[in-house]
Amino acid sequence: MKYIVVTGGVVSGIGKGVASASIAKLIQTNYDLKVMPIKCDGYLNVDPGTMNPIEHGEVFVMDDGGEVDMDFGHYERFLNITTKFSWNLTMGKILSSIIEKERKGLFLGKTTQFIPHVTNEILENFIRLPEKENCDVCVIEIGGTIGDLENAFYVEAVRQLQMKFGKDNVIFVHLTYVPMLSNVGEQKSKPTQQSVHLLMEQGIFPDFILGRAKDPLSSAIKEKIGMYSNLDEDNIISAPDVSNIYDIPLNFAKEKLDKKIGTKLKLLGYKNRMNLWADLLHKMKNSKTKKKILIAGKYTALHDSYASVIEAIKHASAHLSIKPEIVWLDTSYLTYEQAKTKLKDIDAIIVPGGFGSRGTEGKINVIKYARENNIPYLGLCFGLQLATIEYARTVCGLKDANSTEINTETTNPIIDILPEQKDVDKKGHTMRLGSQLANLKPNSLTSKLYNSHNASERHRHRYEVNPDYHKILEDKGLILSGLSPNGRLVEYIELPKEKHKYFIATQAHPELKSKFEEPNPLFFGLLKATLE
Ligand code: GLN
Repeated sequence: MKYIVVTGGVVSGIGKGVASASIAKLIQTNYDLKVMPIKCDGYLNVDPGTMNPIEHGEVFVMDDGGEVDMDFGHYERFLNITTKFSWNLTMGKILSSIIEKERKGLFLGKTTQFIPHVTNEILENFIRLPEKENCDVCVIEIGGTIGDLENAFYVEAVRQLQMKFGKDNVIFVHLTYVPMLSNVGEQKSKPTQQSVHLLMEQGIFPDFILGRAKDPLSSAIKEKIGMYSNLDEDNIISAPDVSNIYDIPLNFAKEKLDKKIGTKLKLLGYKNRMNLWADLLHKMKNSKTKKKILIAGKYTALHDSYASVIEAIKHASAHLSIKPEIVWLDTSYLTYEQAKTKLKDIDAIIVPGGFGSRGTEGKINVIKYARENNIPYLGLCFGLQLATIEYARTVCGLKDANSTEINTETTNPIIDILPEQKDVDKKGHTMRLGSQLANLKPNSLTSKLYNSHNASERHRHRYEVNPDYHKILEDKGLILSGLSPNGRLVEYIELPKEKHKYFIATQAHPELKSKFEEPNPLFFGLLKATLE
């Protein structure tokens, strides 16, 4: 087993997840190897499922129902793989497992301590998880910034990992920030020097330093950073700002990072196989047809809350040579009249997932406008529920139709809590989660888009379209185009072609499975409809 450990220095938010995914992609593709990530987070939440997206960014949902942070989205999108919940270590998970073992008496007679018990538990995961997957190379990404107390046990565990397996099998990559001081017009290496010292104090000697900076690193700064880190200038790699994250693997390849890592880890069979990626990127960058895609939500202030939606739009656009412009609309307090002006020159509309009542009437106004004005619409989870409410109110004449999540008193609970959710009192990992199969109506737009009689997408919700209203909705022309295998849950809805050029919504989150090299069918359909 080979390990590439990625740590971060100086500041957070410099793109450690994307950098790690880019390295993983290059090793996977250019050495034709099976690569998997393990992401280590220092927080005490078992998973980020209960965190506010404004605080933490998007909660990424896996096939197995795991709720993890958005870095797993980058890994899946870059590597074209399906990741697993067990590949995300959090201090919450590690500590609860240790306490459980202690209570069972597994450490009988001993004092249970951070070292060795916590570090052993982490180490045991580092060894067992890749073995179980039978993978060749494991990329371990340690969250946070070096020096953070909460991540120190992961750092100690990777030190022991290298001690155990040797320097040919475990290497360290440190991503730091190299600021450019405008008053002196010079890249500064001091923060990197200090963060490398912090690493070294913990017994980690980096093999590569990736310098995040506005521009590529100058040769002088590479030499200086190298000298302070016991490294050859060749092992200091530029990670300049990019306008497109899919550039990053190719930028690293230009500096031969993949070849240099391969030499250190004694990997065989290098061949540049990134052509497909490069071609797609070229197509993406040279797309000329501009289209405005509106995302209506309440977390619009932090775009990371909708990371996968944004990427899914980019993927579909690249394949169709469209240059998408994403327009954000905060729907809190948005009236129908305001929606009309805001949506005038919009080419497609997405209402993404959401929770709670704020902004819902505004979203319903947006959906009404999209439906009545033949603007391509894609509803994602909450976007299906609100589209159904709008249809029930306007077309079926059920004026107070609503979701019981928004108004418990409504006399027409078009959207209601799932029966199995009624008695759920704990918040963590209790929603309907993960991959769920749907049977698709023959000849429906949905089945045509998936080119199949069924589809499987990932879910994260507690409410559903109330089965008591299926018939009313269908009688009034709404097509329930995908149902759960038992026929109860509405997974897809759509409008007939003669009524609307593209109006489709799903109870799932199809954005989570969209890949750069393989866009999701519903997003592809939405973007394609803007060309009609
Ligand atoms: N709040 C809705 C529910 O729980 C929708 C959830 C979502 O959009 N992910 O069913």
